[in-house]
Amino acid sequence: MTDNNQQFASDNYSGICPEAWAAMEKANHGHERAYGDDQWTERAAEYFRHLFETDCEVFFAFNGTAANSLALASLCQSYHSVICSETAHVETDECGAPEFFSNGSKLLTAASVNGKLTPQSIREVALKRQDIHYPKPRVVTLTQATEVGTAYRPDELKAISATCKDLGLNLHMDGARFSNACSFLGCTPAELSWKSGVDVLCFGGTKNGMAVGEAILFFNRQLAEDFDYRCKQAGQLASKMRFLSAPWVGLLEGGAWLRHAAHANRCAQLLASLVADLPAVELMFPVEANGVFLQMPEAALDALRGKGWRFYTFIGSGGARFMCSWDTEEARVRELAADIRGILGA
Ligand SMILES: *Cc1c(COP(=O)(O)O)cnc(C)c1O
Repeated sequence: MTDNNQQFASDNYSGICPEAWAAMEKANHGHERAYGDDQWTERAAEYFRHLFETDCEVFFAFNGTAANSLALASLCQSYHSVICSETAHVETDECGAPEFFSNGSKLLTAASVNGKLTPQSIREVALKRQDIHYPKPRVVTLTQATEVGTAYRPDELKAISATCKDLGLNLHMDGARFSNACSFLGCTPAELSWKSGVDVLCFGGTKNGMAVGEAILFFNRQLAEDFDYRCKQAGQLASKMRFLSAPWVGLLEGGAWLRHAAHANRCAQLLASLVADLPAVELMFPVEANGVFLQMPEAALDALRGKGWRFYTFIGSGGARFMCSWDTEEARVRELAADIRGILGA
């Protein structure tokens, strides 16, 4: 059990889930070949191919910033540009890493609705300039689930990928919370990725219950050419790779990846339902994944902080963000909701 110190600032405040932990323990016996040439890495990659029902190329990186940046760099040249939403993590929270690792591919932000790009917003940015003086659009990156806790439906993804095809753009998905989207939509990983036209997916492990690690899945295998070298050069090739890959085996083999996401999503629904009736609280976005965004008077936010609660107000479009994770306790959600109600005098 916890010491009741759970916070809602981010889903990465949580620890390591039992399944990932047990797999790391199992991997911690004797010697294994290094740099990904081990049985755990092979098994993890096989589980991904099985889960996604396709023969994709699989790589492992330490974190999401590296996974996204290196994946994007592999989809374009330095004189190309990458279209993303104005609230995208790659734009607002990666310190310019996508531009750095691509040697300068410019991010072009497009308008989004509830955190989502649309075919129109992509088209607008992609066709704004077509002269030699402007970086040529080559990639669209979208986030599933989005930074504001919403999820793209398969038909929305298909409409976007059709637009991409039409405009000659590759499609990348930042899936830091891909599991949460699968759970909410009741869709298979295949449906939300390659079957909807996604070329490359960064599948988040950290926020799903691992200590560290993201998987990079290339459904379009040609785009993976030399990606192993790119990872190595960027300092993302783990020498004891088995400890990055074994936790994936733990998460994937018994379905923990989906159970944990479902739990986090349920906690977010609970939190939203416990404060939704308060007139001073506005739910900023539909709650579809594991995040709840609340607009509240500044004084109320200060009072919440005063009671020891931690939450972010700089993500997405302002307001207070509350994230639930694989281990969030219902009692703690109820405590938070009670404090919000108490502060607002309800
Ligand atoms: C957390 C997160 C990432 C990964 O961030 P790192 O801190 O680099 O692991 C990527 N995209 C989104 C949308 C995220 O929320």
